[in-house]
Parts: sequence; structure tokens; C-alpha cells
Amino acid sequence: MSALSPVLKQATPVLAVRGEGVHLYDETGRAHLDFTAGIGVTSTGHCHPRVVAAAQEQVATLIHGQYTTVMHRPLLTLSERLGEVLPPGLDSLFFVNSGSEAVEAAMRLAKQATGRPNIVVFQGSFHGRTMAAASMTTSATKFRSGYGPLMPGVAVAPFPNAFHYGWDEETATRFALRELDQLLATVTAPADTAAFIVEPVLGEGGYVPASTAFLHGLRERADRHGILLIIDEVQTGFGRTGRFWGHDHFDGRPDIVVTAKGLASGFPLSAIAAPAALMAKAWPGSQGGTYGGNAVACAAAVATLDVIREEKLVENAAERGAQLFAGLREVAAGHPVGEHGGIGDVRGLGLMAGTEFVDADGQPDGATAARVQVAAGERGLLLLTCGAQGQVVRMIPPLVVDSAQIDEGLALWRASVDAVLG
Ligand code: PMP
Repeated sequence: MSALSPVLKQATPVLAVRGEGVHLYDETGRAHLDFTAGIGVTSTGHCHPRVVAAAQEQVATLIHGQYTTVMHRPLLTLSERLGEVLPPGLDSLFFVNSGSEAVEAAMRLAKQATGRPNIVVFQGSFHGRTMAAASMTTSATKFRSGYGPLMPGVAVAPFPNAFHYGWDEETATRFALRELDQLLATVTAPADTAAFIVEPVLGEGGYVPASTAFLHGLRERADRHGILLIIDEVQTGFGRTGRFWGHDHFDGRPDIVVTAKGLASGFPLSAIAAPAALMAKAWPGSQGGTYGGNAVACAAAVATLDVIREEKLVENAAERGAQLFAGLREVAAGHPVGEHGGIGDVRGLGLMAGTEFVDADGQPDGATAARVQVAAGERGLLLLTCGAQGQVVRMIPPLVVDSAQIDEGLALWRASVDAVLG
């Protein structure tokens, strides 16, 4: 008899047997409204017919055309098609399987291209669980603890986390940039700094959007010091925030983009994109892997791009996101922070929405967030938490979600919050 590791935690008790659109179905046939989308992956909805058809056809044609042995058409087609959506100038792609691997590829490229050893990360960011990615992750110690030493050469600067600091966005941004300058003056000299890596919206760190002034500040410093700007769009990319890339909200202008999750509607696929001249500075042999750019995953990604465009999913994310935020703010207004705590903040972008629970002192309240998440699950609304203390309940519905489904989700949310907070 063998079984899954007891350490592997599952946020809901659901045993999913089938997925369709925004719903997952369990063994009893019960439908669950899935506002987790496989942690922001199944943007086209579960088993979108176009994605299913493309993958099925590819499975029957060529499953594994190992890309450092032979080339295959879906990988070429996808590389070409991504040109329609990538930031200007980022015309060269390298594919791997997971967000973590892609983050590591971006880190390797930045170090090899600049010949500099250090990376600056921003407090509260999540970049992955593999060794280098975990070394750059500061969203919670559970990702870093107990197996150090981690990769050296990572310096941590503040993220403009206005709610956390109790400031407005402008003050938080000014503080973050001032501390970044201080870090470059005291910890990692520009000449030793290969890259800044930043999420446009902190994901696992609690759904905290960056700001235009912050990304402008990073760009300006990167240009001034010859530092590369890596934008980790693993969770925020592919329409999730109501623009194609999260950094489109903030005039981000990256040197390297990291993408995964929404890219292939659930097939393991990730990529980095950079200008060809920069990509060519990666050392020979440093890019490869057994499963990278899998043919079925690439075919699914091409279909995903078709669906996003034809069904106007980016626009839908913006519109449904506005509807979702209006509802979440209404629920929050009914539960202001009082002597038993309450909802401290509602924030995010597009269909990436977080509600932060705090105690009477305004401190993160993970226990209450967990109770609300469970209460929602019992009512058939699947949700996840995030934030260092698990204090934020997040909604990441598939981008195909319609207006009635948002209303249904909001009604279940209201009932769940009322049940816990009274
Ligand atoms: N970067 C970000 C911003 C992420 O949200 C994640 C996954 N939550 C990762 C990297 C790591 O991706 P993966 O789990 O596929 O390794």
C-alpha cells in the first residue's frame, strides 16, 4: 500500500473527476464553482472544446518531439504566434515546463548576459519552489526553510505594499524606490547586480498590485546601471488582469518576461521571452531539458491563444473583474474592521481579486480567512488563500466566466463571509 505524501496539502476536500468551463464536478456529480482555476491556469475554462480538440489531435500525431533532438511544428507555430502578444522587442523564446524552471532560466540568462552575480527581489514575491526560484521567493518562509543555505547573491528590497505599511500607494512607492537605492549603495553594487525580478501583482504574497511609478523607477534604475528588468508574469499574464500582461497596467517595459500558468490551459508549459540579442548571450548549452516545449502542450497553447482572441477573454477579464470588485467591495463595506476584526482591504486587478482579513488591531488574520475559504467551499465555491499569514482569500476564476457566474460567486461569497464574521 502506498499513498500521497502527508505533507502535500489540499485546500479543499473535493475529488475532481471532470471539469467544464468554470465548474469542477466531484464523484457524486456535485458541481463546484471553480474560482481557483487551478491557481490561475485554466483561463479558457476547464476542457475548452478548442483546446481539447487541439490537444487530442496532437496526442494522436506526435506527443514528444524532444526539442533538443528534433524540432516540431507546434513549437514553431507557438513561437510565431506569441509574437502577436509579447511586449515589443521580446522576440526570442525559450520553453520549459513550470514557472519555477522559467524563473531559473531568466535568472541564468541575466547572470550570463551581464556577467554579474546578484539578483534583487522584492519582499513578498513568489517565484517558485526549485532552489534558485525559492532563493528569490520571499512571500513566506515555508518556501525557504529547513534546507538552506539557499542560492547566494539574492538581495531583498521592499515592494510598495501600501496596505501592509499602512500608507498610500505614492508613499509606499517612494519608500520602496528609496530603499532600493539604499540597497544598491550598501548591499549589492550596481556593477554586481544582474537583474531586478518583480511581479506586476504580488500573487502568493497577497494580491498586491505594483504601481506605474514603481515600475518606471525600476526601469530607470535598470537603464542607468545596466541591470536587467525581469517581469514574472507567471500568474498575471495571459489576460488574467484585464490586460494581456499585468505590466501593461504600469507601463512595465521588461527586458525578460516569464510566462506559464495561463499559457497552455493546464498543460505544463512555461517560457521566457527576451530580445534575440539578449537571449543570444545565454551560454551555449545552458538552455534545454527533456520535456520543454512539449508538442501537446504547445498545440494546446496555440488553441489557447485563439480562444483568448476570438472570445475576447482579455476584455472579458476586465469587465467581469470590474463586476467582481464592485461586489467584493460591497461585501467588505458590510464588514468593516471592528472589535472582532473584519475585512481590511480588497485589491487586485481584473480577475485576480483578493480580500484581506484582519484582526481588531488591523493585523493579518489568517485564521478567519481560512474559515471563510472553508465556508465558501462548503457552499460550492472553490477558493484559495494567499499572503504570508494566509490572510487573503483570492478569487481567480477562469477568464471565460460570465456575468451570471460572477453574481453566483458573489452571492456564495457574501453568505460565506456573513456566516464567519456574523
Ligand atoms: N512565479 C509566480 C508569480 C507564480 O505565481 C508561480 C506559481 N504560483 C511561480 C512563479 C512558480 O510556478 P510553478 O509552480 O509552475 O513552478
